[in-house]
Amino acid sequence: MKVLLEHALVEPGVEPGVLVGIEDGWIESVRVARPAGAARTLPGLTIPGFANCHSHAFHRALRGHTQQERGSFWTWREQMYAVAAELTPDTYFTLARDTYREMRTTGITAVGEFHYLHHQPNGTPYDDPNEMGKALLAAADEAGIRIRLLDTCYLAAGFGQPPEGVQVRYSDGDAHAWAERVAAFDDPRVGAAMHSVRAVPREQLKVVVEAAQDGPLHVHLSEQVAENEACVAAHGMTPTQLLAEAGALGPMTTAVHATHLTDDDIELLGGSRTNVCFCPTTERDLADGIGPARRLHDAGATLTLGSDSHAVIDMIEEMRAVEMHERLASQQRGHWSAIELLAAATYDGQRSLGFDDAGQIAVGQRADLICIDLDSIRTRGADPTVETAVFAATSADVVCLTTRAGTSSGTRLERS
Ligand SMILES: [Zn+2]
Repeated sequence: MKVLLEHALVEPGVEPGVLVGIEDGWIESVRVARPAGAARTLPGLTIPGFANCHSHAFHRALRGHTQQERGSFWTWREQMYAVAAELTPDTYFTLARDTYREMRTTGITAVGEFHYLHHQPNGTPYDDPNEMGKALLAAADEAGIRIRLLDTCYLAAGFGQPPEGVQVRYSDGDAHAWAERVAAFDDPRVGAAMHSVRAVPREQLKVVVEAAQDGPLHVHLSEQVAENEACVAAHGMTPTQLLAEAGALGPMTTAVHATHLTDDDIELLGGSRTNVCFCPTTERDLADGIGPARRLHDAGATLTLGSDSHAVIDMIEEMRAVEMHERLASQQRGHWSAIELLAAATYDGQRSLGFDDAGQIAVGQRADLICIDLDSIRTRGADPTVETAVFAATSADVVCLTTRAGTSSGTRLERS
C-alpha cells in the first residue's frame, strides 16, 4: 500500500508530500517529494502513533464520579478501591476494551497497562491464576491496540504492613510467587512492574528486578509526600535511594510520577538513564503536585507520558501539560520544545515499553501513523508544524490512523 502524507514528521523535521510504502503493517519506504499517482492521501500532519506508558484501564469507571469529593489522593483511592473490589474477569475485560478503544480514537497505538488486580475478592487465585491479566490482553486484541502488560508485584499495604481489604486481590504472598505466576503467562507481551516501595518489602525488590531480566520494569515513585516520609521513617532513605540499592534503576526502568524528589534522587534517576513517566492530567486531578520534569531530563532521565487514571485520555494534552505546569510553577515560559514533548509521547515512550520498532516514520518501523487535522476549528490558520500539533490541537483533531496492532489484525486505515 502506498500512502501519500500531505505533511509528515520525518528526519529532520516536518516535510510536505511524503510517500510511504506500507506492507503488512511495516514501513518499507519513505520518499520525500510529492510524487504523482499515489493510491491514497492522508491529509493534515502525519506523526508517529502515541505510546500511553501508564494505564490502569479500570480507573476509567471513575470518570465523572469523583469530582464532588473534597480530599486528597488518599480519599480518591478509597473510591478507586471500591471499584476494584467489584470487578470480575468479564467486567474487567469490558472496561479495558472500551478504554483501549477510546485510546485508539485519540491516536494511541501502544499502551503500558499497569496491572495489579490479580485474584478473586477473597484473595484466592482464579482457576487460571492469570485470568485477569488475560482479560486485558484479550481486550487489547479486540480494541486493536498494542499492549505491554506490566504485571505488577503488590504485597503490602505499607512499610511492614500486610495487605488490607481489597488489597488481598493484589497480593501473591511474596515476590517469588509473583514471579512464578507471571512466568506462567508465557506471552512476549508481558513485562514486569512493582507497585511501589510501599507495596514491595525492601528485601524482595531484588526478586522483581531479577524477574524483569532485561525487559521493561515499571514502578510508581514518590507520587505522594506521605510515601517519602514513611519510607525515610522505615528505612532511613528515600524511595529512589531504596530502588537504587536494589539495582532497580536503569534505561529499561520507568519511574512513574517522580513528583516529590530530592536533588540526590534526581541525580540517581538521571545518572542511571531511568525513564520517568509523567501523567500530568492525573497528577493534577489527584492534587499530587508538579514533578521536576525538566530537571530530570537535564540530569539524563528520559521523559515518557501516560494517562494513568484516564480522567482524560488525550496524549496531546499530556504533552502540553508538562510545559504548562512548569510555567505555572516557575512563572517562566519555554521549558520544553514541541519536538521534545512529541518524542516523549512517541519514540521514547515506545522504547520504555520495549517496542524498539515503533515511534518514527522511517523504513523498518511499524506503520503506526496518525494524522492531525490542520483544518479543524482549533488548528485552522496555524502552520503545519509540530508546534501546532502539540500546542494547538487536541485529541479530537486526530482524524485517522494506520496501524497494525496486537498480533492478529492486519494493517488498517481508519478515520476516527
Ligand atoms: Zn498508576
